[in-house]
Amino acid sequence: MKIEDLHQLFLKFPYATTDTRKIIEKSIFFALKGNQFNGNEFAQNALDKGAAYAIVDDEEFVVSDKTILVTNVLQTLQELACYHRNHCKAKIIGLTGSNGKTTTKELISIVLSKKYRTIATKGNLNNHIGVPLTLLSIRENTEIAVVEMGANHMGEIAFLCSLAQPDYGYITNFGKAHLEGFGSEEGVILGKSELYEFLMGKNRTIFFNADDPVQQKKLNGYGNKLGFSRENGENYQIKFEGAHPFVTLEVAGQIIRSKLIGNYNFMNCCAAVLMGKYLEVPILDIKIALEGFTPQNNRSQIIEKNGNHIILDAYNANPTSMKAALETFEKIPGNNKIAFLGDMFELGETAHKEHQYIANLAKELNLNNVYLVGSNFNRTNTTYTKLGTFHDLKSKLAGNPPKNATILIKGSRGMALERILDLL
Ligand code: ATP
Ligand code: MG
Repeated sequence: MKIEDLHQLFLKFPYATTDTRKIIEKSIFFALKGNQFNGNEFAQNALDKGAAYAIVDDEEFVVSDKTILVTNVLQTLQELACYHRNHCKAKIIGLTGSNGKTTTKELISIVLSKKYRTIATKGNLNNHIGVPLTLLSIRENTEIAVVEMGANHMGEIAFLCSLAQPDYGYITNFGKAHLEGFGSEEGVILGKSELYEFLMGKNRTIFFNADDPVQQKKLNGYGNKLGFSRENGENYQIKFEGAHPFVTLEVAGQIIRSKLIGNYNFMNCCAAVLMGKYLEVPILDIKIALEGFTPQNNRSQIIEKNGNHIILDAYNANPTSMKAALETFEKIPGNNKIAFLGDMFELGETAHKEHQYIANLAKELNLNNVYLVGSNFNRTNTTYTKLGTFHDLKSKLAGNPPKNATILIKGSRGMALERILDLL
């Protein structure tokens, strides 16, 4: 089937899904293959559950006139998404970076929703499957789509840009994340900058953090850009009023008190303010939007439990965000400060060095105790308590959990350190 014909069908049945558990009426099921599964096997099930059509790429699963056979389902999903994007009126904001993409995406989205019909990436659907699904959620009346793009290797952002064709872009930061796939920090900078390359090639607007020397350097000489800065006069001024513990900023005479902790969230808020200003959202609406936002899903959540004051940041970790979280933690007021730090994944050959760096950093900060959890931290040289596994930590805390403490919990997703909450 030609892509334009498939698109006509999609306009009648405008819900693309790759998961039979999420089938709703009028949806089209894309039977993707993974390492562990063949979605083709679920095509019949999808149709039974009410999908209008199932797209498959194994002939044996063509079960009725509701199954459409293509050469490669993933490629068809991507081509359809790109075709749809090229035929929609919405302006697209592409967003990448090592840390803070999802938070920034949500902040931009709530700010722009004050004035425009806005859609954004759901959750963290930011890869070669998630980006197409996001693009396919754009409707005829959508005015702005905020599209999060993730990458763990070179060329990925360039590919996602070729699908999403962003009109505007922003990179949250260049940090030490996915070093395994990118090879080095320089690799991360090059990989993320593929968004800049795309936008520069078409002379489209780039939003940037003018206080970040790497972003400054990368964009030096490019005209179509708009920066925010705490001090640098050429750029849009946003004052940092501190994080005690919540980030407060001052912009155009308005004090905005967020419910976000961590100095890094200042930048995330600034990006949303800058885009809001550029797209003419009134400053009072920007303020209301940002002040109303609370983070979810283990991302810098504040939890009170049994007299403990807990900062739960267990959604993910890498050396850059770990450092940022620890430094913030040291500064916030509180007694008996204890950090539970879990292994950081996907660091390749640098894993030992980076875990040692964090163990050393934790030592320099003014903290009462630190528990290091996981096999990487277990290999570090430190006087702090090392627990090879979560089970070891559980035994350690059994019968003697911290009391009246201020606690930071942070580790990679695979460590699932939110389980510590049950031990406190
Ligand atoms: P993922 O790669 O998993 O999609 P992400 O880039 O979407 O991650 P978020 O989920 O928004 O990032 O935030 C994850 C964590 O990164 C936060 O809880 C915080 O510790 C840290 N973080 C958020 N913003 C920044 C930032 N601007 N600079 C450094 N670290 C940040
Ligand atoms: Mg994310």
